[in-house]
Amino acid sequence: MKDYVTEAIVLGLRSYRETDRMVDFFTKDFGRITAKVAAGRKPLSKFSPHLDVLNLVTLRLVKKENFTVTDVLIKNRFPLLRKKLGSLSRALELAYIIKVFAPLQAVDLNLWHSLIRVFEKTFIDFGFFLKIFGYDPREARCAVCGNKEISSFFLGDHSYLCVNCRTKFPSSELLLIR
Ligand SMILES: [Zn+2]
Repeated sequence: MKDYVTEAIVLGLRSYRETDRMVDFFTKDFGRITAKVAAGRKPLSKFSPHLDVLNLVTLRLVKKENFTVTDVLIKNRFPLLRKKLGSLSRALELAYIIKVFAPLQAVDLNLWHSLIRVFEKTFIDFGFFLKIFGYDPREARCAVCGNKEISSFFLGDHSYLCVNCRTKFPSSELLLIR
């Protein structure tokens, strides 16, 4: 069993078995990973307070077949980001984008440093990150009418939409680009 230490952003958590949790991280040294937190659902789990979505943490991990968290410590909760409701909701959407689009265990230092930077500056341009994953807004057209003035990205089928056509899609699945 090997032991690793890396920095990570918490992307999301979900319950696993009776008392455990699976946590999605974007890590500096391994890219996106999913790791088990044993007893992570128990109220007194010492890890729970550190594992809020969007936290920058220092992680200690062991890897057998899968990663298991053996220690976690908050480095930055990005308090400025959490104070601004608009920025916070965009940051949560960005965490979702990373969870969906970033390939597993592919190191991407550009993505890593960009994430930290936008969480610190609290300004999030979805187009910048979608471009990293191959969806460049500057080359995009509305998937419905072909308009070059795109305004949103539809998470349902990963297409761009213009300001008129986006009204036909559920707003909960749209990322506002401009
Ligand atoms: Zn359109």
